[in-house]
Amino acid sequence: MAQDPNTRILHGDEPSRDGDPSAPPLELASFYVSQGPGDGVEYGYARSENRTWEALEGALGRLEDARVTSFASGMAAAQALLFAVTTEHPRVILPSDGYYGVRSLASALVGRGVEPVVVDQGDSDAVRAALEGGAGALWIETPTNPLLRVLDLQGLIDLARARGVATVVDNSTATAALQRPLDLGATASVVSLTKASSGHSDLVLGAVSTRDPELLASLRHWRHLAGPIPGPFEAWLALRGLRTLPVRIRHQSKSAERIAGWLRTHPKVSQVHYPGSREGEAERIERWMPEGAGPLLSFEVRGTSADADAVVARSRLIRPGTSFGGVESSWERRARWGAETAPPNLIRLSVGLEGFEDLIEDISTALG
Ligand SMILES: *Cc1c(COP(=O)(O)O)cnc(C)c1O
Repeated sequence: MAQDPNTRILHGDEPSRDGDPSAPPLELASFYVSQGPGDGVEYGYARSENRTWEALEGALGRLEDARVTSFASGMAAAQALLFAVTTEHPRVILPSDGYYGVRSLASALVGRGVEPVVVDQGDSDAVRAALEGGAGALWIETPTNPLLRVLDLQGLIDLARARGVATVVDNSTATAALQRPLDLGATASVVSLTKASSGHSDLVLGAVSTRDPELLASLRHWRHLAGPIPGPFEAWLALRGLRTLPVRIRHQSKSAERIAGWLRTHPKVSQVHYPGSREGEAERIERWMPEGAGPLLSFEVRGTSADADAVVARSRLIRPGTSFGGVESSWERRARWGAETAPPNLIRLSVGLEGFEDLIEDISTALG
């Protein structure tokens, strides 16, 4: 079997045989023809199994050396995982500088067996103190969103492991092509496939990867019972996008890094956030994300939130909108979302595959 994960994402363990289709088929079915238990048919009802999901899960699993369970959205994946890690202990330690949707979901599950505790995971004393009270899981996100800090991923995983606490890494920003949390000892990685992993802004899906057979069984059982399943068509599109992820995300990371450097010299910009800009981050990137730090950057416009809104509105190329990781660049003033903790003048930019000079010209015009 090929060693390079970027090769394995394209090729399964078995060589192709004469008569195989050249690309994974899209399987649309609500049930599989079968006489019932005992007839040897592995497939029964399509809330439990579908070969298009399996093709997607197989490719992502080969990238991460893990077993993957795909879900209807990143949040459906997060919910399944929140329930799975809180069966023995209700506390989940969540990041203060992370995707706000996960914090909101965990708050909505208070009283349903989930007790969220929010800490700044850049502060290892705070994390240590939170772990002292016991927890079902430490939920990590790095690079953080939207401030793009690079946390001490190995240090955080080790702190939790030493206390027998499971670790979850939200890897939606870097993706499995750039960062491999399971290799560092994380229990699970969760990803919104809606973002860079599928990369074409045409679907909503999510997935959880793990090497823990019990956790895998629990996730699959939940999906079968509650039904937050991926649509086969979305799974098929996500797989098509995933196959070019390594190439796309390296290119997007390079452009994002160059744009961050350019923005730092711009008189209308007061702060630029891109992984590597803070003390100690360069070394972490070198160790855990050597091939690039991802397509996301954020920057603070000098002035008010209205000035930042005007910048977003003036762009002709970069599309205003939430979400990120697509082949087309997009941006938004992040604090327009009520539950977001970003500074009011912060714009989060997702760098796509457009030419670098074209993007610079557009941003330059937009900044005025
Ligand atoms: C988008 C996102 C999610 C949620 O995923 P959906 O596919 O939108 O449900 C979770 N975590 C992060 C970091 C995200 O960016």
